[in-house]
Amino acid sequence: MERGMIATRCDPRPVVRTGRDRPGRFDRQLGIPGFGPAAQERLLRATVLVAGIGGVGGAAATYLGAAGVGRLVLVHPGVLEEPDLNRQTLMRPEWIGGSRVACAEQTLRAHHPGVEIVGYDRELAELPELGSLVAEADVVVDARHNFPDRYLLNDLCVATRTPAVIAAMNATEGNLLVVEPGSPCLRCVFTEGDPAWQPLGFTVLGAVSGLAGCLAATEAIKIIAGFGEPASGRLLQYDLWDLDFRSLRVRPDPTCPTCARPVPGAAEPRS
Ligand SMILES: [Zn+2]
Repeated sequence: MERGMIATRCDPRPVVRTGRDRPGRFDRQLGIPGFGPAAQERLLRATVLVAGIGGVGGAAATYLGAAGVGRLVLVHPGVLEEPDLNRQTLMRPEWIGGSRVACAEQTLRAHHPGVEIVGYDRELAELPELGSLVAEADVVVDARHNFPDRYLLNDLCVATRTPAVIAAMNATEGNLLVVEPGSPCLRCVFTEGDPAWQPLGFTVLGAVSGLAGCLAATEAIKIIAGFGEPASGRLLQYDLWDLDFRSLRVRPDPTCPTCARPVPGAAEPRS
């Protein structure tokens, strides 16, 4: 594993323990109908792989950690740049030039010291252990911004029967697709290079990427905790330009190269 390094100063403030054993830490969510101590325990024991720790993944990781997910695995290559700061709220201006994933680790550890965080400053395709990381995760949050990464994760998630929450945004628009074993996968819904999914010019309003990350975190929490109705089999498309939200039922593609072949023991596709 190659861990990232923060190339700039970081605050050496003492860490205040506010972890899972702190009384009252999760009181505000334990009373949600359908939630409760058993759901909380599932979150505390869970691992979520967050692929992409920018505006979308950073927001997702923030709320996954706040909800008490026990272990976050972060994967993101490269260093922090000035234009990242309109949306990447885990970052600080003084960290420009430092590893994005290491900066994200630093902030998440300060906010959520009870959460185990593992960071990889690597391209997904260059991470030899990616397959095992996906298989070990309870949920994968796909917050990358290119098709090769998205299909790589999709195919690994389908192969290992790992639920995936796939979030994308561009300018004021966003998409959310949840893939669970047996439900239509990314390749069923979007052919490679589909401009309806791919951020083209990569213009970004930070608040929109934050919403995309919050939606992804909520779906991941629902899947892990076992409450609510996870959105597998549906595609949420929204445009905050005019606050338009559409939830579309999606169907499995019988010719899908990834999920059309039945996996032994797999659930039947949902209609
Ligand atoms: Zn498929």
